[in-house]
Amino acid sequence: MKKLTPKAAFRKLAAIYDKMVDRYNDVAETIDMKCDGCTDNCCLSFFQHHTYVEWAYMWEGLNQLPADRLEAIKAKAQEYVEQGQMTLARGQRPHIMCPLNIDENQGICGLYKHRLMICRMHGVPNMLVKPTGQEIRFPGCYRCQELTEGMDTPPVVDRTPLYKDLVMLEMQFVGKNLRQLPKVDHTIAEMIVLGPPKLR
Ligand code: SF4
Ligand code: SF4
Repeated sequence: MKKLTPKAAFRKLAAIYDKMVDRYNDVAETIDMKCDGCTDNCCLSFFQHHTYVEWAYMWEGLNQLPADRLEAIKAKAQEYVEQGQMTLARGQRPHIMCPLNIDENQGICGLYKHRLMICRMHGVPNMLVKPTGQEIRFPGCYRCQELTEGMDTPPVVDRTPLYKDLVMLEMQFVGKNLRQLPKVDHTIAEMIVLGPPKLR
């Protein structure tokens, strides 16, 4: 398989992200789901991300920020990682604001164009069939669950084709080293603290 240049891989990733946003919007419109006035904030959710290509694309966005802004984000990310480790050591799930958020009250993403797949899918019901055949379903956020309560068949985003596209892109981006490299299983904060991914 021919390895893609970072520029070409990022273009393809942006196209996959656009498709995700379209699917998300279709479902959100059907259930009349909006984030306005939300009392929760999904950027407080603790989750890991799993691809080198998304990690690298996030850094492509970070590197476009003014130097002082990037330094502030790195400091917040370091705090996040330390607090997260302490919380996990107590057997609890961290509930800490993502270091890329720029307005805790309104949940504004400071790297919106480069935000990762899971950030784009959090709100609405979505499902994924893994290559093993295992089906995973996500009910959407609390507001979405309220809106879909009582629906026999709530609309759902099938992430499977998008996930397949992402896996293919990951192989094209990383190239033949993919199997030798450690599996990616990092929070956004960890990806910031670690710096851009090393692919060799
Ligand atoms: S990257 Fe943006 S959308 Fe994703 S959790 Fe962080 S602030 Fe929220
Ligand atoms: S996706 Fe759900 S939890 Fe996240 S901001 Fe929107 S309404 Fe709130």
